[in-house]
Amino acid sequence: MGDGNNHIQGVPWDLSGEYESADCSAINKDLVLASELMDQMAEQNSVLLPLLEQADELVVEAAGDGIAAAREIHRIAEEIRLLLDNPETYADCCMSVDSQDEAAQILSGRLQSYQKRFTELSQPLAQFLDLASLEVIEAYLDHELTSATRFVVEHARKRRDFSLSLAEETLISGLAQDGIHAWGRLYDQLAGSLTCDVLIGNESESMGLAQASGLLQKTDDRTRESAWRSINTSWEEHIESCAAAINAIAGWRLELGRRRSNKSSMHFLDSAVHMNRISRSTLNTVLEVAEESIPLARRAALLQAKAYGKDQYGPWDQRSPAPTVSGEDRPIPYTEALELIANAYRSVDPTMGEFVEMMAERQWIEGTVGPRKRPGAYCTGFSKSRTPRVYMTYTGGASDVITLAHELGHAFHSWTMRDLPDSQRSYGMSLAETASTFGETIVRDALLERAGTPTEELAIAWEETGALISFILNIPTRFEFEKNFYEARQQRPVRPDELKALMSRAWEKWYGESLSEPDPLFWANKLHFYISGLSFYNFPYLFGYLFSLGVYAKRLTFGDEFFPRYEGLLRDTGRLTAEDLAAKHLDADLSRPDFWRDSVAMLKPRVDQFDKLVSELPV
Ligand SMILES: [Zn+2]
Repeated sequence: MGDGNNHIQGVPWDLSGEYESADCSAINKDLVLASELMDQMAEQNSVLLPLLEQADELVVEAAGDGIAAAREIHRIAEEIRLLLDNPETYADCCMSVDSQDEAAQILSGRLQSYQKRFTELSQPLAQFLDLASLEVIEAYLDHELTSATRFVVEHARKRRDFSLSLAEETLISGLAQDGIHAWGRLYDQLAGSLTCDVLIGNESESMGLAQASGLLQKTDDRTRESAWRSINTSWEEHIESCAAAINAIAGWRLELGRRRSNKSSMHFLDSAVHMNRISRSTLNTVLEVAEESIPLARRAALLQAKAYGKDQYGPWDQRSPAPTVSGEDRPIPYTEALELIANAYRSVDPTMGEFVEMMAERQWIEGTVGPRKRPGAYCTGFSKSRTPRVYMTYTGGASDVITLAHELGHAFHSWTMRDLPDSQRSYGMSLAETASTFGETIVRDALLERAGTPTEELAIAWEETGALISFILNIPTRFEFEKNFYEARQQRPVRPDELKALMSRAWEKWYGESLSEPDPLFWANKLHFYISGLSFYNFPYLFGYLFSLGVYAKRLTFGDEFFPRYEGLLRDTGRLTAEDLAAKHLDADLSRPDFWRDSVAMLKPRVDQFDKLVSELPV
């Protein structure tokens, strides 16, 4: 960027409060201490380990030493986590700003062996808490060191019927490295090495898949279509490898589920909904409401197609920008963006505006433009000081302002929880996007008000409509496919042609007549199906989207009462299930459709407004 743009981009963040550098002595001190504490943890483990064999038969009187050891292990583990997480966050931050930062690379590599040892040392306590009798657990929790962990302990214990012995669990996680995870890595490597030939204008250009996917965000419809077709041609050549990987990943999970079903039978969705701290019936309700909303979402898709002069929406249109985006829109300087966000946040409550100002004053936001910066944006935090940081590359576009508002929402969420015990500060993915989407929505409204031309207005409304289409149509398409695939996989491995047919049927069910053609290879080309550590990495997006809109809708219902409720809700995200959270703070029942319908109702006028903007486009 030239000098002329210096007033546009953001400023660098300040990490000096944590460490001087990635190779400073303070980090060494932390790691030496972590090692000593891990030795202590191993010692306490030796008291606990002999008790695991018959943990479910233990009575409090006989388990006194074990309970005391368990509490001590918990205390030490919390300390170790701070000592390991803090330098890790620091290393990640340094590498984000300079992907070639040598010292940070070395630190990050060093930390791996510490993390591995810590994970292994944490297993016995986790097993003990899952397996011990209720009376032993009550005795364990009845103490100032552990009482705050009640929710996480009880939530984990809901799955205790599915746990195997420590020896079996250790064997499984050991074998998984070259089993299920190897298939995930193979897929990643394949995706990273594939190339394709894309027709740009009249010339064919060879490029990697990542670059080709970048073309899916171009305004030229033919370029997007050509990129999509080339990406699929490239995957088609590796269809057997992808089918082998996806079948092996699902097969591993299904077999494991069968082995875990000794006491009660385990469903392939159980671990995903448990991880997200929601119930199966809540999930069903969300999907039901998404299905009811199909007409609205298809209308939005058809309007986007119309804006491009087409009759139907193509599978290559998922990340299309507004057709009028010229790149010449007036940029919003960083300081102006912060002011706009602070004001929008302030309209909810003064403390939210003050929070944004504090983030800027303390320089907790990285917003510069730099050649060695990693792409993307995120919010992270230092575990010792409990202070958040926001990372992004700010270049002045409206979408940058929205990204900044999104990440500041995450930061506000963690700031609201900063005085809580560590065990109550992590939350499932289904609730993770509540504050960020909320922040995004209020700032998008502010941007719409500020928009001076129909073009600017359309660009913002386009993004909003794009989100609606992807959350209400695309995410359920992925879920539909994955669920039907797991059902089929229970019988036998599924052949590539069958996978294509399952995928196409899912597209047709959700997009219907709005779609020009299905994407039969979506199962091969979507990375989410190959994340070996997580299954059904799709419905949490739909849940989070509709949940945060539902929270937003409650602003009107509750008026002055809204903010204290909102703050209380955010504070409880790490110690309540999503259902309990909504009942307590929103007076809402997530297992019933009403709450979700209110979320969708908010979208209707926005699609109407979009309709108006599209109709006014010059032909
Ligand atoms: Zn987010």
